[in-house]
Amino acid sequence: MLYIGNHTTSSKGYAAMARQIIANGGNTFAFFTRNPRGGKAKNIDPEDVERYCVLSGENHFGKIVAHAPYTLNACAAKENLRDFARETMADDLQRMEMTPGNYYNFHPGSHVGQGAEEGIRKIAEILNDVLTEEQTTTVLLETMSGKGSEVGRNFEELRAIMDLVEKKEKIGICLDTCHVWDGGYDIVNDLDGVLDTFDRIIGLSNLKAVHLNDSMNALGSHKDRHAKIGEGQIGLEALTRVICHPALREIPFILETPNDDEGWSKEIAVLRKAYEETMK
Ligand code: FE
Ligand code: FE
Ligand code: ZN
Repeated sequence: MLYIGNHTTSSKGYAAMARQIIANGGNTFAFFTRNPRGGKAKNIDPEDVERYCVLSGENHFGKIVAHAPYTLNACAAKENLRDFARETMADDLQRMEMTPGNYYNFHPGSHVGQGAEEGIRKIAEILNDVLTEEQTTTVLLETMSGKGSEVGRNFEELRAIMDLVEKKEKIGICLDTCHVWDGGYDIVNDLDGVLDTFDRIIGLSNLKAVHLNDSMNALGSHKDRHAKIGEGQIGLEALTRVICHPALREIPFILETPNDDEGWSKEIAVLRKAYEETMK
């Protein structure tokens, strides 16, 4: 089964998001847990969640991938910013239990001159503060492009964070195709090699979700500018190989391309067709 959908911009609740995704031809999606710039989250309505569960069941949805706000920086230099990251994550994880068993993805952070090693230590520390034995949500570290002082610019840095996390069964990785390409991993000419490297350093069993994006920039550019599928430097063929790869079966593929619902519907249709043609 191919699980594909887009990062929805709708913020009218779970059932509304699901309905829009179904209209787009998707069977998974991503969404911001709150305003991407932070701020207080809206209360979750249990009746809305119930309606959502019916829709997702009937339409055979895969796991959904909530996205933490961009402003969250678990390795900020200022402690008050780290307090915000800690409190936001803890609150988000509690809210995620309204829809048990899904994914919560976040950008590891930017070390802002403290050095990657200190960043890695601080990120793991926050994860150790917020992860609980009881949670059913898996927290995903996103692979980053290495723009500015981003931590998670390569597989080694993500591995280093994971090594310091106590509840390892509660964490995993979300691979962003634009970010790894911009980070210097050649998924166009050597997808197998990149996935082998991932397996050797992190372990493929930890790869839980993919952000499926084309990139406006060249391999290793460290820019992080997403392009529409087939309109960037990665291209439709290479992205089709990603969704068809045997190591990536059954995991959610999330489009974070610069589109509206009409554009995402088209991309989902194009990718489903490419998938079916390749797999038959
Ligand atoms: Fe992201
Ligand atoms: Fe992403
Ligand atoms: Zn990005």
